[in-house]
Amino acid sequence: MSSPADAATPLDSSHPNYWGQTSVRWAIIAFFALAHGLAVWGAVHIVTHFSWATLSLGIGWYLLCGLSITAGYHRLFSHQSYKASAVVRALYLMFGAASCQNSALAWCQDHRRHHRYTDEPADPYSTSHGFLWAHIGWIWHVTPADTPEVKVDDLERDPLVRFQHNFWVPLAVMFGAVIPAAIAGLWGDALGGLLVAGFLRLVLAWHSTFSVNSFAHTFGQRAYAAGASARDSAWVALISLGEGYHSFHHRFQSDYRNGVRWYHFDPSKWLIWTLSRLGLARQLIRVPVRSREAAQSTAGGRA
Ligand SMILES: [Zn+2]
Ligand SMILES: [Zn+2]
Repeated sequence: MSSPADAATPLDSSHPNYWGQTSVRWAIIAFFALAHGLAVWGAVHIVTHFSWATLSLGIGWYLLCGLSITAGYHRLFSHQSYKASAVVRALYLMFGAASCQNSALAWCQDHRRHHRYTDEPADPYSTSHGFLWAHIGWIWHVTPADTPEVKVDDLERDPLVRFQHNFWVPLAVMFGAVIPAAIAGLWGDALGGLLVAGFLRLVLAWHSTFSVNSFAHTFGQRAYAAGASARDSAWVALISLGEGYHSFHHRFQSDYRNGVRWYHFDPSKWLIWTLSRLGLARQLIRVPVRSREAAQSTAGGRA
């Protein structure tokens, strides 16, 4: 584990503080406030109108939408760590839209920039601008105009990705709110479906994704990526469906696993492996054991 002093030390104090230096996206902030309010209402609703069916729907929707971000947006579309059938890609894009984290194309553009410029000013969610900036502040602000572009032309060639990029907002409304409300309406709890599987699920999933950018770049062990702030954090892996092994991921971003050991909690790698057994995914990339061991000894388990 890192020491508190290490965690609080900025990587490069010459970086500008981005807070207040780019325009604020007030509409996004208003939606965040509304969603958090409705999530609190959802938490109250599930306690005061408890229903196993609604709770199960909420958990199921959390997994569907969350895995579409981790195994889909992240490991498939951003990193091409495996190939997936059109049916799987379409499901990732539909439930990924319901996670309200932008289109897959825009998400991958930000994420590839994060990997290419980790901890540098062009890193959209660099912790050098502060923990809160990396967690949520960057989403509330317009990207600075001089931010370099990164290539996503491989994704632009995918007609499913292009379609989702153009229609991700109506898809988000449909898969993130209308369908869960309609399903829960079957047992007379449409409001619970909207609040619990819609907004409570959305807000919890947001913060689990954001924790990878903030907590997993601040707390934990720099087991592999010695030169970067990324760290391995088992508890972030627990809430983010396996994404917390972030030091390994930054060092070996093309590997379809983030939790590389068999005992690491990484439901996203288990999903991808299962899809490959079913013939729905193929060409899963694994880094050789000797490369992993060499990277570990280089990093020296630096905390
Ligand atoms: Zn990272
Ligand atoms: Zn990544």
